[in-house]
Amino acid sequence: MPEEDRIGEEGRGFEYILHGLNPERILIAAEAIGIGRAALCIAAQYAQERVVFGRPIGQNQGVAHPLARAWANLEAADLMMLKAATLYDAHAPCGIEANAAKYLAAEAAHDACQNAVLTLGGMGYAKEYHVERLLRESYIPRIAPASPQMILNFIAEKALGLPKSY
Ligand SMILES: Cc1cc2nc3c(=O)[nH]c(=O)nc-3n(C[C@H](O)[C@H](O)[C@H](O)COP(=O)(O)OP(=O)(O)OC[C@H]3O[C@@H](n4cnc5c(N)ncnc54)[C@H](O)[C@@H]3O)c2cc1C
Repeated sequence: MPEEDRIGEEGRGFEYILHGLNPERILIAAEAIGIGRAALCIAAQYAQERVVFGRPIGQNQGVAHPLARAWANLEAADLMMLKAATLYDAHAPCGIEANAAKYLAAEAAHDACQNAVLTLGGMGYAKEYHVERLLRESYIPRIAPASPQMILNFIAEKALGLPKSY
């Protein structure tokens, strides 16, 4: 590669790559939270409008509680994402927080999407309502850029001091 195309100083490439991984995880966390919120928004509206046995389905706690839990989990993940982003902006170490944010947000998004599909019943499977697409998309932040298992491996080692498992 010609020298004029080199980014930064020679010999610091791996350090630069690592520096880019944490913001990627923070970004993916934000994406996951957006996916989860979009699914919840559709589900909440549907649960208000769809009437079965003379009442909106959202009046049933069996429908409402999974959505409420998903909302709480997404908000908590959002706070971890903002904590990681704040640390990164302050040039402070943020690897553990960035990984935790990605993990929490992706799992919360997946849970929100899954419950959104179930809230819409058969319509959850219909493309027109978009929740099946959001559920499929929620797998991307779960799998990439690192799987939930590998994120937990990282946190176990870096936050808890446990021996590296891989
Ligand atoms: C839409 C999408 C976009 C992507 N974009 C990029 C990109 O831009 N750049 C890039 O480099 N990669 C990209 N990837 C790849 C992604 O980072 C990998 O798919 C992901 O890290 C998982 O690696 P793998 O597919 O090799 O799975 P594997 O490493 O084969 O793992 C398979 C399963 O085994 C589990 N597993 C493996 N080892 C262990 C262990 N020691 N302990 C516990 N569980 C374990 C994993 O958690 C996973 O569940 C993308 C993937 C997708 C789906």
